[in-house]
Amino acid sequence: MRTDILGVGFDDLTLDEAAEAGAALVEDGGFHYAVTPNPEFLLAAQHDEPFRQALLGADLVLADGVGVTYAAKILGRPLKGRVPGIEFAQRLLAWMAAHGKRLFLLGAKPGVAELAAANLKAAYPGLIVCGTHDGYFQEDGPVVKAIQESAADVVFVCLGAPKQELWMVRNGPAAGARLMVGLGGSLDVFAGVVERAPEGLQKLGLEWLYRLMKEPRRIGRMARLPLVLFQAAGARLTGGRARA
Ligand code: UDP
Repeated sequence: MRTDILGVGFDDLTLDEAAEAGAALVEDGGFHYAVTPNPEFLLAAQHDEPFRQALLGADLVLADGVGVTYAAKILGRPLKGRVPGIEFAQRLLAWMAAHGKRLFLLGAKPGVAELAAANLKAAYPGLIVCGTHDGYFQEDGPVVKAIQESAADVVFVCLGAPKQELWMVRNGPAAGARLMVGLGGSLDVFAGVVERAPEGLQKLGLEWLYRLMKEPRRIGRMARLPLVLFQAAGARLTGGRARA
């Protein structure tokens, strides 16, 4: 049973449980994909049905950030905790390195995925990065072929939302990998192009504030986030009659 937060169902998992579930999907036959919605996703999905369907259809839906866990609390359906996409990725990488699994990195500006690959191989000895591709391509076909030929088990799809979720739904089954994970700007972080917030701020759930300080152009996007909390409060007050 998923926990419904403003129209999107979330898996109620701790970070450890999410990582275990991710590993199980890799071991399972067939294609799977995981998404990491934050409050911006929830707002966008209200006006973008294909995007909402892509989120609902995922095998793993992880609450990326405090905005989602606060909204869950306000709705009276608290989640065990947040599962930041990047931390989920790190757990999965450790497991992949220990089990000889193959990783393909897709997304970000040219050169970034290669830089991320080098850093990840150093950080996770034994990790096999079997291919990379930047996120600014015109046709899906050659990228799908590159993933097929790489025989990847896992693909980190980092094209930003909703592009990456729609891309995984459209191309995942043909690419032959077991698990694709939509991870937004994570390759920039792995490449060292963008830093994560200091750990103290991460623990306080204030990573968004650090990101805002570093990239003030995000203010327009972020100013909309309290809206998710107001919507959750509205849905709670109307006893769930509103879309909750
Ligand atoms: N990106 C991409 N192709 C595109 C648009 C974006 O590869 O057509 C990349 C972009 O370079 C960045 C990531 O997708 O690395 C999205 O970053 P953003 O910080 O906007 O995403 P978030 O983490 O906020 O979802």
